[in-house]
Amino acid sequence: MNSRFDEMRLARDLPSPSGVGLKILELTSSAEYDPEELVGLISADPALSGRILRLANAASHDVGERASSAHQAAARLGPKVVRDVALGFSLVETRMPKVSDFDVDSFWSQSLANAVAAELLAEATGEDAAALFTLGLLSGIGRLALACVHPARYGRICGDPRSSDEASLLQLEWSTFEIDNLNVAGCLMENWGLPVTYTEALDGISPRVPRDPDSVNKWADILIAARLIGRVLSPEMRNPIADRGRALAALPLAVERLGLPQDGFIESILSASSKWQEWAEFTGIPIMGADLGDLSLALVQSVEVEPPPVVPVGRRQDEDRDLFADEAEFIEDEADHELRPTRVLLVDDDPAMLKLLAFNLENEGFEVFMATEGSVALELAVHMQPEVVIIDWFMPLMSGYELLRVLRKSEIGRRVYAIGISADGGDARALEALDCGADDFMSKPINPKLFAARVRVGSRVVAERQAVERSESINHSRAAEMGLMGRRLRSAALTDGLTGLPNRRQGMRLLEAEWERSDRQNTPLSVIAIDIDYFKTFNDTAGHDIGDAVLREVAQTLSENTRAGDPVARMGGEEFLSVVGGAELGVARIAAERLRNAIDVLPPIQVDKPMEIKISLGVAAREPWMRCVDDLLREADKALYAAKESGRNRVCIAGELPGNAASA
Ligand code: GH3
Ligand code: MG
Ligand code: MG
Repeated sequence: MNSRFDEMRLARDLPSPSGVGLKILELTSSAEYDPEELVGLISADPALSGRILRLANAASHDVGERASSAHQAAARLGPKVVRDVALGFSLVETRMPKVSDFDVDSFWSQSLANAVAAELLAEATGEDAAALFTLGLLSGIGRLALACVHPARYGRICGDPRSSDEASLLQLEWSTFEIDNLNVAGCLMENWGLPVTYTEALDGISPRVPRDPDSVNKWADILIAARLIGRVLSPEMRNPIADRGRALAALPLAVERLGLPQDGFIESILSASSKWQEWAEFTGIPIMGADLGDLSLALVQSVEVEPPPVVPVGRRQDEDRDLFADEAEFIEDEADHELRPTRVLLVDDDPAMLKLLAFNLENEGFEVFMATEGSVALELAVHMQPEVVIIDWFMPLMSGYELLRVLRKSEIGRRVYAIGISADGGDARALEALDCGADDFMSKPINPKLFAARVRVGSRVVAERQAVERSESINHSRAAEMGLMGRRLRSAALTDGLTGLPNRRQGMRLLEAEWERSDRQNTPLSVIAIDIDYFKTFNDTAGHDIGDAVLREVAQTLSENTRAGDPVARMGGEEFLSVVGGAELGVARIAAERLRNAIDVLPPIQVDKPMEIKISLGVAAREPWMRCVDDLLREADKALYAAKESGRNRVCIAGELPGNAASA
């Protein structure tokens, strides 16, 4: 997988399927899941079952009876389709940071238009319509991800007029992030376990991936045409007429590539339009797009449309930008240093002299502050942070010598470029000033041109010093980030983000390791499958955040009450696994009972009314007939199921009757 994508994954929140979508992904990630369970999940979500029903009853699938239950609908569509659709729609609820110039509503509006268009074209060409619906819906998801991860910089890209051209947008993304939205979408789909045909289709539409002219990539061709139709229906908002015109102009060729009649494309648009509106009403996705009006007129106008400005393909423009730098701060910082005039503080007890020098410097573009005595100068130095200070050496209250000495003790004072001036311009005076910390010295009367030139030297010295400091600090933080990133990458792959426990993958690895050890040393091995009782109720009555808090609390309590060295992993949702190495069933039963009790005595969660946290547990020990860890896990799951069936908040042991094992 792309390393830039890995960085994105760690940097901020990527869009991810939520709730049921996640559960469905989890369920179907194993090859041998139970389709019945999938249907059960869908039925539990009215919005999702509605969507699935609607898809099953769409014209393309309308063979005989209409499906009237999620069950029938899922049977008609097949589990694969059901899964992809659920995934797509659960993404619509992705929470977004505010990104200027990236309009989320218009993004989903266009994605939905792409989806219906892809479905229609797939039907017309005999391809998998439901899969293409999902592909159309998700093909732009990389833009959403980039906007989530890099709000400030992606906002700027979206605000760039060149981004209205697709190829230029990809190029702008590439030059800023070293990854473009199609790559990101591909990585996300791969990450979610979608079939490789999805990613291949995205590669097929990327101008960056060279395409073998002889190879056939039907899905890519459909996607190209569908995205054009999508732009006709829901054009780019800044310049809808031009955008629609360009899409219209490109459509006939794209449609012909699919082997469809060239002139049929207007009908495709119209039927996509009505489907799009139905779906929008039904999903709550807002529709953004001017009235289609007279398409043939738009087509005529499209000939006159100016092509958009195009970004030349080239090196990254801002190679030294740090991907992890806090964006808003970073930008302000840069601007601050580039635009601010050099600040000069003038200190002289002679007001006439001050005026004269100030007039001279202001003419040269410096920002000037004045003080007639040392104490005022110190205060100004603190508040105004000048780069250059000009100090009269002879002043009545605080001498120039004293002022400089105090200044040099402070952080700001150490950095300023100090020029001493004096009417007594002998070499001895100059030497004294330079020795006690001045950077330069001038004698009165002062030649205005020479004076301005020496202040410019000071300003340059300070600017260079600051640049060095800035790049050092960036290098420092980058080095720190790289080390951190390596560690985060490794641990993110193994750790569950919510609870900090080993994730399913790592849990399986640890279990495999224990299994091998028990082989080698001929020792027993037991596992405890754990599931929170009625966990859904926490989500439903108190919200997802409380649900998450419960998960964290349970995770912590479980690991605190587990023998050191015995892993507890979060296997998914509200399911955990405790591996009890070297333990017979009897020992594991005691361990399980200890866990149950530790959770049982937790104080209830206070919402409207107190809600108690309980768990059910299934214990299994390795038996001679078992060939692999899956056999062991299955036995533990069966016991867990028995614990649920016989009343919850209890421990059941594999192979024992639930009644005997009840311990609550
Ligand atoms: P049972 O006693 O039969 O186990 O009932 P239950 O409600 O605990 O089980 P069910 O499997 O019906 O519900 C589990 C819920 O957990 C559904 C799912 O939305 C939710 N869930 C899964 N992962 C997370 C998560 O990370 N955070 C939150 N808040 N909820 C999650
Ligand atoms: Mg549960
Ligand atoms: Mg469960």
